[in-house]
Amino acid sequence: MESIREKPHLRLVKPSPQAGFAHAARPAPPVNSCSAYYRRIEAYAHRIRKSDSVMAIVDILDQALTETRALERSEGVVFGSGKIDRAQLEMQSLKTELEQLRGLVYVDHLTGLLNRGALKDSFTREAARADRAGKALAVALIDIDDFKLLNDRYGHQTGDDALVHLAQIIRRTMRPSDVAVRFGGEEFLFLLPDANSEQAAQALHRVQHDLDRQPLRHAVHEITLTFSAGIAIRGSHESCDAVIARADAALYAAKRAGKRQVCHATDAEQHLQP
Ligand code: GH3
Ligand code: MG
Ligand code: MG
Repeated sequence: MESIREKPHLRLVKPSPQAGFAHAARPAPPVNSCSAYYRRIEAYAHRIRKSDSVMAIVDILDQALTETRALERSEGVVFGSGKIDRAQLEMQSLKTELEQLRGLVYVDHLTGLLNRGALKDSFTREAARADRAGKALAVALIDIDDFKLLNDRYGHQTGDDALVHLAQIIRRTMRPSDVAVRFGGEEFLFLLPDANSEQAAQALHRVQHDLDRQPLRHAVHEITLTFSAGIAIRGSHESCDAVIARADAALYAAKRAGKRQVCHATDAEQHLQP
């Protein structure tokens, strides 16, 4: 399938083993002197400098904050007055700023949906939730039909309006627990927790139904947007890339079969067989 892939505005999420979640689970030995505390803070600073992910930095700051708070309660460690308070305040405000930044960089500026940079985090969270609950996770990829033609005929601004229009309908139609991501130029990806193929297809049909009822208005024209879609149900322990590749293949099949339709991927186990 030919597809226009949008580059994320900022590449922020790349958890590395040196600076990331891998360290979160490992309890650090207790700090029992000022110099030990400063050494620990220096080690955190080193990890932050090497980190290229806001998520990982927030995680490291969280650990540093937890240790700093624990120091207040520990006996026998004496710091200059107010130093611990100040350190805590600075770390807390840095953490808050980074969390706000993360919120901003994960949003697609045109549609207000999540952008592709947010996908890995969202997928990791939803996959873990599905595994814990023993429930399915459906992944649906949709691509607007003949979008280039729409741009050529009505102009790029109308193309942008169409993307915003579709995003509004997606927001109104999907369940609050569903995750909608602008995956590329005119491609959108959905994570639908606890949905089987049939239910995922119904959700997409609702979106198409609303697009039919609410055409995009451009001057005297009413433009009905249509899309093609591929649905894959995540296999147990299947990676984000693998399940998206299956949904993408199903989307390609939907395009080849004449557009404005939903195709289902072969399931993960079958897909692995030679
Ligand atoms: P198909 O039905 O096979 O999907 O054909 P298509 O025309 O939708 O797909 P194609 O990949 O040929 O063209 C996609 C077009 O989407 C080309 C690109 O200029 C346009 N596009 C990508 N991002 C944006 C955007 O943010 N705004 C606008 N207006 N157009 C965009
Ligand atoms: Mg495309
Ligand atoms: Mg298209």
